[in-house]
Amino acid sequence: MQDNTRFDGRVAIVTGAGSRDSGTTATTVGNGRAIAALLARRGAKVLLLDVELGWLKGTGDMIHADGGVSASAVCDVSKAADCKAAVAEALRLWGRLDILVNNVGISGPSGDATAVDPEGWDHGMAVNVKSVMLMAKYAVPEMRKQDGGAIVNLASVAGLQGGHPGLLYATTKGAIVQMTRAMAAHHGGDLIRVNAVAPGYVYTPMVASRGMTEELRQQRATAGMLKVEGSAWDVAEAACFLASPAARWITGVTLPVDAGRSSGA
Ligand code: NAD
Repeated sequence: MQDNTRFDGRVAIVTGAGSRDSGTTATTVGNGRAIAALLARRGAKVLLLDVELGWLKGTGDMIHADGGVSASAVCDVSKAADCKAAVAEALRLWGRLDILVNNVGISGPSGDATAVDPEGWDHGMAVNVKSVMLMAKYAVPEMRKQDGGAIVNLASVAGLQGGHPGLLYATTKGAIVQMTRAMAAHHGGDLIRVNAVAPGYVYTPMVASRGMTEELRQQRATAGMLKVEGSAWDVAEAACFLASPAARWITGVTLPVDAGRSSGA
């Protein structure tokens, strides 16, 4: 029987796959690194993208130690030329592109409308939202030439609920949810599925770099119904499912991966 969770013969791009060179311990792996590693473990050839080549070494090492195939390239996803070149690099290396994971996301300037600075706002919108359009702009035409493809975007519970302290972050993640629906409708006829995952709080290098106390970490980690801490690997499992043939009849959805937090009161 065919295993619909595998990606043998498939080519994937994962943006922001570097986890800022956090090392490879289970507690500090970011979503991008975990998603790339799981795609590779299940047979995909993965092009890893980040703003610094050095940050991708840990991810590449993890994949290669596991017997997987990956290559790394520099790509600032807020820049059209970089996104175009990244898609071209996947084609040059492996001749096709089946899966695009738009993982990059920054928290950006925090605070409400009175606190946000306009320049920081524009930068955050470019990195978190414009980037998804840019990567799709160059990936979709390649997927159209084939038997379709799958795009997985990283939203957040911050885009599903109110209550997040950062207006910019919540706005960009809400935009990802709607972009996912809109792009799914645009490209469904070409058998290109577009879905998103909306993680709850997971302790990644991005979060750790903000200097979180152990008490706050525990409080956030157990905010969901299950009262257990999740990790980037839980996010990766969901992202890989949505990218896989097992999800061939699923498009336009945002799947919360949050221990039930967004379904609560
Ligand atoms: P991560 O470890 O996957 O790091 C993100 C990576 O993106 C970093 O390596 C960083 O260098 C890279 N990056 C930043 N700006 C970039 C740019 N312009 N071009 C290319 N790469 C860039 O971090 P993470 O915390 O796992 O977050 C990944 C995604 O998950 C984000 O979209 C984030 O919003 C989302 N998310 C995270 C959490 C959480 O609690 N960690 C919760 C909900 C959603």
